[in-house]
Amino acid sequence: MIMVKRKRANGNKDNESASQKAPRNRGSSRNSRKTQRPTEQNKSDVSNWKPKTELGRKVQNKEITNIDEVLDNAFIILEPEVVDSLLDLEQDLLLIGQSKGKFGGGARRVFRQTQKKTREGNKPKFSTMAIVGDKNTHVGIGFGKAKETVPAREKAIRKAKLNIFKIRRGCGSWQCGCGKPHSLPVAVEGKCGSVEIILMPAPKGKGLCCEKEVAKILEIAGIKDVWSKTRGQTKNRINMILACEKALRKTIQIKIQPDQFKALGICNEEPKQEKQQDMQPEILPEAAEVKTEDKDNNNKKTKE
Ligand SMILES: [Zn+2]
Repeated sequence: MIMVKRKRANGNKDNESASQKAPRNRGSSRNSRKTQRPTEQNKSDVSNWKPKTELGRKVQNKEITNIDEVLDNAFIILEPEVVDSLLDLEQDLLLIGQSKGKFGGGARRVFRQTQKKTREGNKPKFSTMAIVGDKNTHVGIGFGKAKETVPAREKAIRKAKLNIFKIRRGCGSWQCGCGKPHSLPVAVEGKCGSVEIILMPAPKGKGLCCEKEVAKILEIAGIKDVWSKTRGQTKNRINMILACEKALRKTIQIKIQPDQFKALGICNEEPKQEKQQDMQPEILPEAAEVKTEDKDNNNKKTKE
């Protein structure tokens, strides 16, 4: 493909000097295509969408306008359009496969190709992993498998949208302490198969110091700085990615004291804090009154 494009470009030097540059930056051009296409599709999908679930109807009637309402109440999302209409999503595919062939085959590829031997011949299947996210604490990971590449990708994206979850960001690095959510609040650990991954908060400007596919997930989730440590067969990409997902899910499961929220730079979680703050003053004044009464009594006793 690349050779053909280059020949054409040589033919029309003046016109296609711009397009000649494009195939050189392979990764960037591919990424831009991926990000462009789905947004166009998503818009058309949402406009022609007829919801089948009650959650879908509520979202379309704008009774629910925030994805956090859905996730905090543990509603089950059965339609990808719910997520599409509530969030501005970006999506990407992870490199879980490798191309086959001699002489430098084994280059990393989006689709993992496997074969079943049958009487008719080899029957290939393609599987891929998609990630979606809004770069603001929401991220989803999905795995799709089909006999051809296009349906596999669609399945993966659909599952990623249904599988969306919220993470908690913060600044738990002792070297930074800026109080802004650019990293993780605490170190988290995830495991899948033999692969174990520990994600640790890093100071501002450090970047994502981890495996490339894991970095893609963290980036789309909105985390900018992280340190990591892994153990096990990390070349098994699927287990690696799933371990990362489990670690990220733990960020929200870990209980953090409300007075630590500011120190760890957790910004986007007010309701829980408010509730706890409301509870405390109700108890405190009564206790204070009791104490003052006791003191008065004590004073009287001492006077007597
Ligand atoms: Zn910081």
